[in-house]
Amino acid sequence: MSKTPSVLLIYTGGTIGMIENSETGALESFNFDHLLRHVPELKRFNYRISSYQFDPPIDSSDMEPSHWARLVKIINYNYDYYDGFVILHGTDTMAYTASALSFMLENLSKPVILTGSQLPIGTLRTDGKENLITSIEIAAAKHPDGSAIVPEVCIFFENHLMRGNRTTKINAENFNAFRSHNYPSLAQVGIHIKYEPNLIRRAMPHLVLKPHYLLDTHVVIFTLFPGIQESTVNALLHAPGLKAVVMKTFGSGNAPQKEWFIRQVKEATDRGIIIVNITQCAAGSVEMCRYETGIHLIEAGVISGYDSTSESAITKLMFLLGHGLSNKEIREKMNTSLAGEITKTSGVR
Ligand code: ASP
Repeated sequence: MSKTPSVLLIYTGGTIGMIENSETGALESFNFDHLLRHVPELKRFNYRISSYQFDPPIDSSDMEPSHWARLVKIINYNYDYYDGFVILHGTDTMAYTASALSFMLENLSKPVILTGSQLPIGTLRTDGKENLITSIEIAAAKHPDGSAIVPEVCIFFENHLMRGNRTTKINAENFNAFRSHNYPSLAQVGIHIKYEPNLIRRAMPHLVLKPHYLLDTHVVIFTLFPGIQESTVNALLHAPGLKAVVMKTFGSGNAPQKEWFIRQVKEATDRGIIIVNITQCAAGSVEMCRYETGIHLIEAGVISGYDSTSESAITKLMFLLGHGLSNKEIREKMNTSLAGEITKTSGVR
């Protein structure tokens, strides 16, 4: 491979490339050439930058697991020809895509950086240019021995490089749209890009990239609230084909102790439905052993999602179910960090 740094830019859509429809005033997807015309700075990189675009580009609200498989295919096909990959993506579901890719790209040893913007790149105050240019630099960054500095799926947004499967979109308006509440940033960007080597996952260069394409979407995320009805929980847990549930509980993993609630949950896990407990709180971890209310859930067969985001928990379940693993294997893998998505503190579950 040549020594010139090389990056493949994959444009899926999102605000970054949109323009305003003069009749409706709504933002609509536009093509990639338009986007590139607004970033003449790209020519100043001494890099080989190639691009691939989704045709048509999509608003990320339309993102589907089939698009994730397509991204994996593009990355796998081009893996040996580039130092890194930058995916331009709408912000709305970027955290889901980043989480899914982190599981689907096993043994990743090159950077895959997702970014986008809150304002289209053609607008004067856009945040898109900054996000795009820095993402390209990070995607090409290497150690003196030639290995990638950040061999992970990440989101770069407003000066922070974050592990993708730890992120959540937290702001629909401000430029700092993403947070990684339970894991520190992998790099801070100011005058310099300050990487945090101790926080970045180490690649296993002797292992080859193993792309995965299969996902099973018979899953659901469900949020508890005071007053939730048995008929609702019953209908949800009896949804045809349902295989796994991410249950967003209160505080450190607590749920109502009512007889009907525990019974519904227990009957579901007895039927083989996997129920993963994550907290509704933005930060912190589930600790089901801490309160009696949590203990009831363990007894009903619920497993801990630790400090997982809901985006990561749901895509991990889709990934594991997609590979036809047994109920026992899935429960074990949910209990294991596959791509740095959970922090396990000993004795906590
Ligand atoms: N609706 C847009 C999308 O997610 C929002 C954005 O890009 O920020 O595609």
